[in-house]
Amino acid sequence: MRILITGGAGFLGSHLTDRFLSEGHEVIVLDNLITGSLENIAHHFGNERFQFIKHDVTNYIHVPGPLDVVMHFASPASPIDFDRIPIQILKVNSLGTHNALGLALNKRARFFLASTSEVYGDPLVHPQPESYWGNVNPIGIRGVYDESKRFAESITMAYHRVHGVETRIVRIFNTYGPRMRLNDGRVIPNFVSQALRGEPLTIYGDGTQTRSFTFVRDEIEGFHRLLFSDEVFPVNIGNTRETTMLELAEIINRLTGNKAGITFLPLPHKDDPKKRRPDIAKARTLLGWEPAIDLETGLEETIAWFREQMR
Ligand code: UDP
Repeated sequence: MRILITGGAGFLGSHLTDRFLSEGHEVIVLDNLITGSLENIAHHFGNERFQFIKHDVTNYIHVPGPLDVVMHFASPASPIDFDRIPIQILKVNSLGTHNALGLALNKRARFFLASTSEVYGDPLVHPQPESYWGNVNPIGIRGVYDESKRFAESITMAYHRVHGVETRIVRIFNTYGPRMRLNDGRVIPNFVSQALRGEPLTIYGDGTQTRSFTFVRDEIEGFHRLLFSDEVFPVNIGNTRETTMLELAEIINRLTGNKAGITFLPLPHKDDPKKRRPDIAKARTLLGWEPAIDLETGLEETIAWFREQMR
C-alpha cells in the first residue's frame, strides 16, 4: 500500500511510519516540523519506499500518484502548545483535516483521523465510553485543541456520509514512550527529564488528578487494528490503569533512583481534567485489542531512551 501520514515526523506519526515501512508498505510523510523532528524519521532517509515532504497541511495538499491510505496525525498535542500556538492548532485540525479529507476523496483512499480523549473535556462520566458527548469549555485555553478535534470528527463523519469516504476515527488517550520531546511539557517527559537531572518532579495542583497512560507500541497496534477494521464510528484506544500524578511521580522517582522528591506548582489551566480513563469495551470486542505493556515496563524503556538523549 501507499500510505500518506500527516505529522509523520512527530511522536506517534514516526512510530506509525516505522510500523508501515517494516511491513513493506510505501510511506509519504508530510510535516511542517512545528513540533515534529527530522531526527524521528532520519533512519529512513535513503529507503526508496520512504519520502518526506516538508509541508503545512493547512495549505492545499498536492501529492502525485495513487494513495491507499491517508493517516491524519498532524497537530501539536501538548498543553504547553495550547498557550504557545493556539491558532496553528485550530487551523491544522480544521483546515488541515479538510485538506487531508479532500486528498483522501480525490485518491479514493481510506482516511484515518487521530482524535483524542480531549473530546470528552473534563469528563463528568467515568470511565469514558465513546457514547459520552463530553464536557468541554469552548473558550478555555484547552478549547483550541478540544473543539478543533471535535470539529475534525464532525467533518470526517460528513465526508463519510456525503462523499462515501471510508473513514476511521481513533480517540487517543495519554500515550508515552521514546521520541517524545524532552521539552514536550507533558507530564511523563517533564517528570523523566527532571528525575534524570536529579531535580524534584513538578506536580501541578495537588496531584490527585488522574490519567491513564498507554505505551506507544500498544497504541500503534490499536491504530493498526482499527485501520483494517470496518468501524466508522470513533473507538477509544487507551490503557485502563488509572494513575494519580502523585503515584506517577513516585514511580518515576523510584525507577530512576531520584532522591529529590516532588514540588507542587499551581495548575496551569483551570480546565485541567480531574479524571481520565477510557472505557475500552468497544476496542476489546471489535478489534480484540487491549494494552499489553504495563506502566513500569513502558517507563523503563522511556527512561532509557531519555537517558540516551540527555547524554
Ligand atoms: N502535570 C504535572 N506536572 C507536569 C506536567 C503535567 O503535574 O510537569 C499534570 C497536568 O496538570 C495534568 C497531568 O499531569 O493534570 C497530565 O498532563 P499532560 O500535560 O501530560 O497532558 P493532559 O492529559 O493534561 O493533556
